[in-house]
Amino acid sequence: MAAMTRLFRSSSAVFSIRRSLSSAAATEFKPQPSPPRVDPKARNVQWVFLGCPGVGKGTYASRLSVLLGVPHIATGDLVREELNSSGPMSKQLEEIVNQGKLVSDEIIINLLSKRLESGESKGESGFILDGFPRTVRQAEILNDVTDIDLVVNLKLPERVLIDKCLGRRICSQCGKNFNVATIDVKGENGNPDIYMDPLLPPPHCASKLITRSDDTESIVKQRLAVYTEKSQPVEDFYRRQGKLLEFVIPGGIPESLPKLLEALNLDENEEKESATV
Ligand SMILES: [Zn+2]
Repeated sequence: MAAMTRLFRSSSAVFSIRRSLSSAAATEFKPQPSPPRVDPKARNVQWVFLGCPGVGKGTYASRLSVLLGVPHIATGDLVREELNSSGPMSKQLEEIVNQGKLVSDEIIINLLSKRLESGESKGESGFILDGFPRTVRQAEILNDVTDIDLVVNLKLPERVLIDKCLGRRICSQCGKNFNVATIDVKGENGNPDIYMDPLLPPPHCASKLITRSDDTESIVKQRLAVYTEKSQPVEDFYRRQGKLLEFVIPGGIPESLPKLLEALNLDENEEKESATV
């Protein structure tokens, strides 16, 4: 770990980002940080995306990474890639997964460090992390390895998450995913109204829809409870550092993405500019 820490500390990219982070440090201990204005050309962000299962975290993280020109690094993908490779950790990982054990923090950090290091050697800087850190311990290790300047916590009310999961359908013939739920929830306690259209299947799929066996109300609730229990301390960890930005998703991606960009101080022009790059 010490060697790895040195490696990251000595990297010039980390130092240049560290300098530009001084404005973020000033927002410490505010419950809702206002993110520093980001110029994707001058500075690359080091962000973490948190969010419970079903919130669409991967989709938002991936859209933002394209917009900002930083890699979207999902630790689940790193584990899968290593398993499918002949890399030094693939054998060890295979044993762990075959025995049904959890992949340790050390292995995840190791994979993540390798990924950041190889990206940096290819001229990458900045990242959006998805699926990491999951525990306070991981967050502390990450703190030692690199700087995180903002943690975006994507949220939806539990009722919406449950209805979204219960509305999921898969076409048994072509395997495409649909959603038959119409979400229409009035916002309470200052939260926005939430409206999401269903994603209905074309006629040739409509008669072949099936539901995943684990998309029942009790299993979905259990999944959310497990997530909340584990994520709460991680959210608190970043909230104490003034880095947690809470964002309640107000609808489908077309309506929500511009609002998320606004909350992140990124405007439409930057989006268009980067889309043409
Ligand atoms: Zn189909």
